[in-house]
Amino acid sequence: MPKAIGIDIGGTKIAVAAVDHNGCIRARLVLPTEAELGFGRAVERLSQAIAAVVLEAGWPPGDFHGIGIGCAGPVDPRRGLINNPYTLPGWDNCDIVTPLRDRFEVPVSLENDADAALLGEYFAGAGRGFDPAVMLTFWTWIGGAVLIGGQVYRGANGEHPELGHIHVAPNSPLCYCGIQGCLEALASGTAVTEAGRRAGLPDPRAVFAAARARVPAAQTIVDRALHAAATAAWTICHTFLPQRLILGGGLMEEHFTLFATAMQRRLATATQFTCDAVSIVPALLGNDAGLVGAASLVLRGQDPS
Ligand SMILES: [Zn+2]
Repeated sequence: MPKAIGIDIGGTKIAVAAVDHNGCIRARLVLPTEAELGFGRAVERLSQAIAAVVLEAGWPPGDFHGIGIGCAGPVDPRRGLINNPYTLPGWDNCDIVTPLRDRFEVPVSLENDADAALLGEYFAGAGRGFDPAVMLTFWTWIGGAVLIGGQVYRGANGEHPELGHIHVAPNSPLCYCGIQGCLEALASGTAVTEAGRRAGLPDPRAVFAAARARVPAAQTIVDRALHAAATAAWTICHTFLPQRLILGGGLMEEHFTLFATAMQRRLATATQFTCDAVSIVPALLGNDAGLVGAASLVLRGQDPS
C-alpha cells in the first residue's frame, strides 16, 4: 500500500506526518518553524522529523513513496522554491525539494498551502468525489483554491487564484492587494477584528456574540461580512460552476451555518444555473487538510495495491 510523508509549513510551526494510502495520519510531529535560524537548519530538522514519524508509524526506515509539502505562499511548485518573505523571513527562493529528494531518494513535491488544503479535502474529506471543487479558507486572511479535472487550477506562473481578493463592495476598506472592497478586507478574521475594535469589541467571537444580541454596530460588521461572502460565492459559482464549495478555516468552524445560509440565499436567485448544482459544505479535515493534501501529492500518483 502506498505511504507518504506530508509536511505543512506555516509561519510559526511545521507539522510532519506519516500518512497512509487512505489519507489517515499514522504519526505526526509538530515543531516550531524558527525561520530566523535559517533555511539549512530547517531542512535538517525536517529530515530528523521525517525519520521520527516513520519510526513512530512503525514503518521500516525509508519505507515511503515520496514527500509532499504544503507551504504558506508564495511558492513556485514547478521549481520547488519557497519564496515567502512575509511569514518565513530569510527564506528567499529556497529550494526545499532537492535536499529532501537527495536525502531520502524519493520524489518530493511542493504546493501552496491553500492548494494543499483543497487537495486534502478532495483526497479524504469534504471534496471527495466532487469535481470541480472550490475551497475558501477564512483565517486572519482568506485563501482560495480551485480543483478542475482532478488538478489544482494554476495561473500563468503556477499561482493559485487569489479568491480572497474578489471585489465585492464599493466604498470599503482599502486592501493591501490594491483595491477597496475585496472579500478579505470585509470578511477575514483580521477585517472583523479591526472593525470590532473600532466598535469596542475585542475579537471576532465578541463581534458575532454581540450581533446575535442585536447590538447594531456588531450587526453591521457581521452583515457586511456575510454580504461580502455571498457576493464572492456568486462570482465564484458563476466563474467555475463547482459541484462543491468547501468552507474552511477558524471563522467557518464557528460560523459555517451563518455564512453558508447567506451564500445559498444569494445563489437561489441565480438564473444561469440551478442552485442545487452547487453544495456548500464545511471542510472536514480541519488543520489536517494541508498535511493530508501534501501527502496526497504523492499518494495520488501511486498504484493503490
Ligand atoms: Zn484584497
